Amino acid sequence: MPIEFKNVSYTYARKTPNEYLALYNANLTINEGEYVAIVGQTGSGKSTLVQLLNGLTLPTGGELFINDKTTKQICKRNKTTKELRKKIGVVFQFPEYQLFEETIVKDVAFGLINYGLKKEEAYKKAKEDILNLGLDESYFEKSPFEISGGERRKVAIAGILALDPDVLVLDEPTAGLDPKSKNDLLDFIEKLHQNGKTIIVVTHDMSLVLKYSNHVIMLDKGEVFFDGNTKDFFLDKKVEELIEIPDILKLTRKLIDKGVNIDISKIISTESLIDAISKWREQNG
Ligand code: ADP
Ligand code: MG
Repeated sequence: MPIEFKNVSYTYARKTPNEYLALYNANLTINEGEYVAIVGQTGSGKSTLVQLLNGLTLPTGGELFINDKTTKQICKRNKTTKELRKKIGVVFQFPEYQLFEETIVKDVAFGLINYGLKKEEAYKKAKEDILNLGLDESYFEKSPFEISGGERRKVAIAGILALDPDVLVLDEPTAGLDPKSKNDLLDFIEKLHQNGKTIIVVTHDMSLVLKYSNHVIMLDKGEVFFDGNTKDFFLDKKVEELIEIPDILKLTRKLIDKGVNIDISKIISTESLIDAISKWREQNG
């Protein structure tokens, strides 16, 4: 199910003195099974792009196609955005602020009941999803307000995942999480990706981009500044001026300069660099 942006623009507060062109003429294709990183400075249009995927906002220019139908068509025919949201699940920034039910199970089941599932079925599915996120049974009847921030975010994500969307979009999912919660969440997202889900992540974290994504879309002042594979992204001279290259790549480059023979395209994390150095040492006695 490809997602295609064709000349997509979005203007806030159109025809008012506050009119603001937040996304301009975006042409993008996201294919099934990809792990896409959306990067760019604050205010560059990342969240605007994410909202268009959710169908809550429609492009003010151009068309956004999901599986050959435009979001306009999908939302009009259904009168609601339900159909679109079963295809594309969007987790907004700080989703934990949107939890409101008395218990975690009720919160995760909310979307399912909304989609017409019977209560018992919805609770059963919600419980499975909570366990899948690495929270145990003791969480089912807890209030979302008595658990940690990282756990709350997991619960919010479980609520979106309960609908089993083909594409999962997360807007800065690791922002404000402690390192342990952050790594747990990234591992979890990676498992979903390996099980076939298309992942789209908005992030400022270049180590995350390097380690997990295969495709990078960089926005700058509302325009697509880079669109291509992750390897090319970190080699792009224009890009390099605007981002912080991950330490692990800087270190690899220094080692290569010193004569260590490493294939830099294989380096995505500390582990892969250690492997490459060990191999090089074996080959060089
Ligand atoms: P990012 O997620 O990359 O930080 P956003 O997509 O949130 O960027 O915002 C892009 C631009 O659109 C920003 O300059 C922002 O101020 C503006 N903007 C966002 N939401 C609104 C709104 N509701 N009304 C007017 N301007 C907005
Ligand atoms: Mg944003």
